[in-house]
Formats: sequence, C-alpha cells, structure tokens
Amino acid sequence: MRTAIITHPYCRKHKMTEEHPECPARLDAISDRLLASGLDIAIEHKTALKADTSHYALVHDQAMIKEVMDKIPNEGLTELDGDTWLCPDSMKAIERAVGAGILAVDEVVAGKLDAAFCSVRPPGHHANQSTSSGFCVFNNVAIAAAYAKTKGVERVAILDIDVHHGNGTQDIFKDDHSVLLCSLFQHPFYPNTAIENHQTLINSPLSAGADGTDLKALVEQQWLPKLQSFKPQLIFISAGFDGHLEDDMGGLKFVEQDYQWFTEQVVEFANSSDCLGIISYLEGGYDLSSLGRSAVTHIKALVEAG
Ligand SMILES: [Zn+2]
Repeated sequence: MRTAIITHPYCRKHKMTEEHPECPARLDAISDRLLASGLDIAIEHKTALKADTSHYALVHDQAMIKEVMDKIPNEGLTELDGDTWLCPDSMKAIERAVGAGILAVDEVVAGKLDAAFCSVRPPGHHANQSTSSGFCVFNNVAIAAAYAKTKGVERVAILDIDVHHGNGTQDIFKDDHSVLLCSLFQHPFYPNTAIENHQTLINSPLSAGADGTDLKALVEQQWLPKLQSFKPQLIFISAGFDGHLEDDMGGLKFVEQDYQWFTEQVVEFANSSDCLGIISYLEGGYDLSSLGRSAVTHIKALVEAG
C-alpha cells in the first residue's frame, strides 16, 4: 500500500515528569528503528499539520478545550490527572498529534495515500468528551474519525489494540452507529471500564498472559466478521504496542509477529472491500526496544501486505 509516516518534531516537546514512561524518546525509538530497517525509503514522510480548536471541538466539550489551554503553564508542569501533565510546550505537540490524523484523512480520502502511521504523542484513546486522562490530552483518533465523517466518509471502524481499553473512544462514539469500535485489552486492568457490547461496539477482554494465539482467535471470530458486515469506508487503528511481551506496562504476551499478522489481516480486509484506506495512530508502548521493533513491523506490513 502507498504508505506514509506522519510526524512532527514538536511532538517531542511535550514532557511530563522525570522518568515518566510516556516520553519523547518513544518517537526516537520508532524513527531510529525505521531508519535501521531500510524501510525508510519505501514510505513517504509527511509533516503533521497544525490542528486548531475547530478540530478538537469535533469530539470535545468547549469547557474541556478551554481547561486544557488555560492550564498550559508558563514554566514547570500542571496536572490534568494523576498521571497526565502539561508543560509549556505541550500545546505545540498536541496541535501536531491531532494534525497528523487530519492530514492523513485528507490524503487518504483524496486517494493520494492508502495508509498512514501517525507517529505522534501525546496519545489519545483515554480522553473522552470532557476529560483528559491516562497520558492522553485530546483523543487524536476520535477527532480524525469525526473529521473523516465531515469529509463524507459514512462508516468508520476503529480497531484498538493497546493493552488498555480505549475507554475515551468508546465514550465518544458509543451512541454513534456510524462508528464501529473494536477494542481488545487486558482485563481486569486500567482503566477498569465496565464491559458492554452492542452492534457497533465490540469489546474483547483478554486475561493477563494472553498471547498471539488469543489475538488470532478474537480477531478471526469477533472482529473480521463484524468488519465484513459493517463495511467501513475507512479504518483507524489505535496502535498501542504496550501489549508486547517485553513491555512491563501490561501483562499481555504479544510479539512483533503478532502485530504483523494483525496488520496483514486489516490490509487484506481493506483491499478486498471498498475501504479507502487505513490510518494508524500511535497510542501506548513504553518499552523502547519492543516499541520500535513492533511499530516498524506494523508499518512494514502496511507497506508490503496485500
Ligand atoms: Zn496503553
């Protein structure tokens, strides 16, 4: 697939407390590994657009947007929740984290790209309409999905493979049946969402210790049949890699080959349907080595599969 990586140097400027796992080095781990892989030359490199309040307001309350902007400190850090902070440059990163998905939607809907990986931070899938939490300020993937709908895309699927439940994305789209959300996650585990399911909400909890065999079973039995009946015109992936065996943030046992297999399934589905393309957004992934390897394996599968 014609694939781009979309990022911006400003995404490194968002810094939280010392030793915070959601750190700028995560993006370096991905870009360094991409360069070393030689895959670098097979993909397009694009610079994220600068998003603005009109984009955030597609899914977030005005009061929440104002609160985030008002809390940007002149120096030091301000706290949004117990594990999410803002620094003086956070807004620069947030604008580009959201803007990456806006550019990706524009390019894919225009037929210029088949796939994009938004290598940005802060992540987004725990942020709901009114609250930032869990390292997430605004919900990047939800904003991009809502933006795609303003561009005439009628049915959107979001596949969330982060070790944590995509609770913010669920809150935002729970009552919107034009958006299918499939989320796998370790359970019980943060953010401890009550599990519910309906026609456009597929929650797939996994016990600690679950591995690629369990991933394959749930994707084949639950997600692929739902994708086939829902017929999304655009697919988003909330690509968290904190379910990797080597990532201490969670207790799942996925390895690079599992992310490869998953990505191949999504590409094959997209190619066999009327889907415009695949837009993947970095969410979690905190062990730098496995994050870099997993993200590049995922990008490689976007490029080569199908
Ligand atoms: Zn996570």
